[in-house]
Amino acid sequence: MGTSRTKEKQNKIDSKSDCPCQSGLLFQQCCQRFLAPSSTQTATQPAKTAEQLMRSRYCAYVLGNETYLLQTWHPKTRPAHLNLNDSPNRWIGLKIKTTTLGQESDSIGTVHFIARYKTNGKAHKLEENSQFEKINDHWLYVKGDFPS
Ligand SMILES: [Zn+2]
Repeated sequence: MGTSRTKEKQNKIDSKSDCPCQSGLLFQQCCQRFLAPSSTQTATQPAKTAEQLMRSRYCAYVLGNETYLLQTWHPKTRPAHLNLNDSPNRWIGLKIKTTTLGQESDSIGTVHFIARYKTNGKAHKLEENSQFEKINDHWLYVKGDFPS
């Protein structure tokens, strides 16, 4: 049995990889437990803080996991679909700058971060203040502002 390389994903991440969110932990110790294992299942446990959700959503962008991104998007701002696999962006790094509220006892929170990505070999960075809201013990992404 040969393995076809034509459908190989750009980012190969497994449990023993460093987590793509650059927390310094292994993927299995960090964001993997929040990501839904398949499109028909929900995550084994929800993120406890807005920052955890932010990190796991970044990983979902790295992995092209549209299901998780849509599951963790607030219904009032959620797009119908994302078409991540059509995007030329390859995510290469995340740095959380500050967080406001977003702890286990809170119901809203913001996370200020810088994410870096490459498009056709050229590096870019995205700086965003993301707003999160917790509904039924699940943190959801509401929207982002872009500081100038
Ligand atoms: Zn992580």
